[in-house]
Amino acid sequence: MLDTSLPANLSRHQCLWWDSIGDLLALADLPEPSPRFTGEARCDVSIVGGGLSGLWSAIWLKTLIPDLSVVLVEQYQCGFGASGRNGGWLMGSIEGMSSWSDSSGVLSADLRETITTIIPEVKTQLDRFGIDCDLSHGGGALAAARYPQQASRAQGFLRDLERLGFTPADYHWLDATAARAMVNVRGCAGAIYTPHIATIHPLKLVLGLKRAALSLGVTIYENSPVCEVNAGTLRTNGGTLQADTVIIATEGYANGLDRKGVTTLPVQSGIVATEPLTSSQWAELGFQNRPVFADFSRFSTYLQRTADDRLVVGARGSYQWGAKPSLTFDLSAREQHARIKLATQLFPLLKGVSFTHCWGGSVGVTRAMRPEVVADTQRKLICLGGYIGEGVGGSFLMARTVAEHLAGLATPRTSAPWLKIRPMEHRLTWPPEPLPWLAITALRGLWDLEDQWLRFQYWARSWPIRRLNE
Ligand SMILES: Cc1cc2nc3c(=O)[nH]c(=O)nc-3n(C[C@H](O)[C@H](O)[C@H](O)COP(=O)(O)OP(=O)(O)OC[C@H]3O[C@@H](n4cnc5c(N)ncnc54)[C@H](O)[C@@H]3O)c2cc1C
Repeated sequence: MLDTSLPANLSRHQCLWWDSIGDLLALADLPEPSPRFTGEARCDVSIVGGGLSGLWSAIWLKTLIPDLSVVLVEQYQCGFGASGRNGGWLMGSIEGMSSWSDSSGVLSADLRETITTIIPEVKTQLDRFGIDCDLSHGGGALAAARYPQQASRAQGFLRDLERLGFTPADYHWLDATAARAMVNVRGCAGAIYTPHIATIHPLKLVLGLKRAALSLGVTIYENSPVCEVNAGTLRTNGGTLQADTVIIATEGYANGLDRKGVTTLPVQSGIVATEPLTSSQWAELGFQNRPVFADFSRFSTYLQRTADDRLVVGARGSYQWGAKPSLTFDLSAREQHARIKLATQLFPLLKGVSFTHCWGGSVGVTRAMRPEVVADTQRKLICLGGYIGEGVGGSFLMARTVAEHLAGLATPRTSAPWLKIRPMEHRLTWPPEPLPWLAITALRGLWDLEDQWLRFQYWARSWPIRRLNE
């Protein structure tokens, strides 16, 4: 039976995905709860962190080198971190990928192919292991909405993608009518359409991957926080594990196991979800093939229509002093209200609809502002992460890179710029507090003000037209 216990301060009812565990329990093939690590053991490769990065690394390692003994150690339960609580966008793109362009500003054809084929590659693995995680491949509408300035931002973003070498088959412009036919958002001035986004149920994906890893012979321990990593030795609160190679896959839940100083800054993101909406409400809202939706504000919005017909609305959140990750699902009343307000501004039909769930979690941000795999060949230590909120697809790519690197393979991933073979000491760290707190809080405050000002301007300018239409 699935272990549904979570840390005492974590109410699973807050997070839609954990709350649907009741339905998941009806499935016969859920993974058994994993034991706590105690005593002493040794293995070829140990992995710290039971999220997507850790689980995909384990799966790829056992796929490429079946004889390898692989042990994964998770401090709570697999999926406790961002992987079990995200917005469910599986993206064939990587945050920060423009920095990998060549001197003429173009992303090589190999890199573009490697990145845009993430979704079909993930699907192949899901089919291989028979994982049903409600995957729906409806693409995405990244729309200009709420105020006119979003249109120039969106078109600028599309031009940047074109400069990188992406074609209209990857990203193209939809005029307002075509965009509204897809997602009927208020004040729509057009949208970028991309087929490179699908939606998933995050916890179903994690649990399916856990089952797949176990079936390949990976040993998993849960409720076993790793306190120290030193020269191939992992010390947990229950014992000591020796490993030839250690992989640290703790991302936004990192706690300085790789080196002193913060390499991956945890920044919060938060989500609200509606009750299931009726078919007539959906007929008005659109989302017919379940495309995802975002607007071009600086809130970093992400919306999806779930398999059980709810609207999930996410947006970037705050930063906790001292680079502390979000260990609960809590969202303050203010943060909940901000998301509900955003949702009703985008879709006035949602006024009066119940929002049944709200939760948050931490995303990991590296100083390079893009994900990376750092392999310290001397210390036999590998770190992966820094997806800046786009790690559902990104973790698949980085984890495969880790496994191919350890298998000594030459692939498009092991020659990709995200693989860095260097001592951990050379990883960039964030400056100490108060700098991160001041910078992020100030930026967030300015962006909120900008949003309010642009909306006010739009509201004031469109007032005469609204009066005429009354
Ligand atoms: C609210 C929210 C919405 C998001 N929405 C999206 C989205 O729609 N699309 C998208 O692509 N990305 C999204 N993301 C980001 C995405 O979820 C992450 O990038 C991705 O899940 C990272 O996976 P990971 O395995 O690297 O890290 P995590 O899933 O965070 O896993 C790290 C694990 O390490 C464990 N750990 C930490 N320290 C220790 C230790 N000392 N010992 C043992 N275990 C330890 C943690 O408990 C945790 O389970 C979102 C994130 C959040 C928080």
